[in-house]
Amino acid sequence: MKRVAIAGAGIIGLASAWKLARRGWRATVFDSREAAREASWAAAGMLAPGGEIDSNAALARMAIRSLGLYPEFVRDLEEDSGLTVEYQSCGAVEVAFDEPGLAALTAKAARQSAIGIASEPCRYCNWEARRYPADCIVDPLSVNEALVAACNQRGVEIREHEPVTEVVGNGSGVRTLQGEYVADRVLIAAGAWSSTLFPGLPPVYPVRGHLLYFDMEPGLLTTIVRNRHTYLLQRESGGIVAGSSMEDTGYDRTLDTAVIEDIHRRAAKLLPALADAKPMDYWNGLRPATDVGPVLGRLGATNVWTAYGHFRNGILLAPDTAQGIAEEFGEG
Ligand SMILES: Cc1cc2nc3c(=O)[nH]c(=O)nc-3n(C[C@H](O)[C@H](O)[C@H](O)COP(=O)(O)OP(=O)(O)OC[C@H]3O[C@@H](n4cnc5c(N)ncnc54)[C@H](O)[C@@H]3O)c2cc1C
Repeated sequence: MKRVAIAGAGIIGLASAWKLARRGWRATVFDSREAAREASWAAAGMLAPGGEIDSNAALARMAIRSLGLYPEFVRDLEEDSGLTVEYQSCGAVEVAFDEPGLAALTAKAARQSAIGIASEPCRYCNWEARRYPADCIVDPLSVNEALVAACNQRGVEIREHEPVTEVVGNGSGVRTLQGEYVADRVLIAAGAWSSTLFPGLPPVYPVRGHLLYFDMEPGLLTTIVRNRHTYLLQRESGGIVAGSSMEDTGYDRTLDTAVIEDIHRRAAKLLPALADAKPMDYWNGLRPATDVGPVLGRLGATNVWTAYGHFRNGILLAPDTAQGIAEEFGEG
């Protein structure tokens, strides 16, 4: 049985470990802290090429493929974990508040249409809007929980509080704070911390984002509603998640009251019922950004692979990323 050592137990590392274990690999995943407590824990869970991708054709192809894989990904995950994953095929509506906003939205829709992202004009409340019928929502916490359970079920070892300090040789294992682990291949999937783990990797930097959570009646929103980078979505329990922000604050995860108030104000413009509601919770996380998009695949002739830099779309892109890795690795 071949061994793979994976640095990072976020959605990307866990999904890859699970898929590899299903192909007979013996996977060990190392994380600096508990599994799935960084960006993958913080995410809203939109699976939204329509809301997130403007004109990047390669990213659109990957996103559309990954969105298409989601129903099967969820079904297999539920089967292996015995847990329920909250997945809603609900579409999205992007509104324009004024004429320039509508012109920008229409121009964006034309660019998106050329790269395979469909939308149609509609109305939302009193505003002109576009509907993106294919966008979906998942509850990332339910995905993460199911991934950990499915990994356990398939014999993946998850070693928490054991940071990888370096990759040994050209991928013959990893060194961690606790010792050395020998493997046939190494996968670097440590989100915003990935690029220091092996020489010459494209740099990754953290882009902080805050989210707010309001306890509301279920059924208030039947779709994602957004205006540019302000968005709302509703969990089945009724909780409305409102986002977000893009902050260049390094690895600092201190909560910022001014940012939280700004998101609340923007969210209330989209859904006036939120104006007087008090957020029940708020949090932030660090998106792994690069200048080159997701950094995926084998590093030259080494036995080191990378899967990081998914920035705003790692929840969406996880099924395609994990499947790509599993296909390249083959049987274990
Ligand atoms: C506010 C916010 C909202 C978002 N909303 C969405 C959304 O709606 N849809 C979407 O698709 N995406 C969304 N994202 C983006 C998404 O969360 C990320 O792209 C995705 O979670 C990245 O997953 P990852 O596994 O690469 O990174 P992470 O989840 O950050 O996991 C990396 C892991 O590596 C570990 N690690 C770090 N250093 C080491 C080391 N040396 N050794 C071992 N382990 C290490 C960390 O502890 C961490 O657990 C959002 C992100 C934020 C912050």
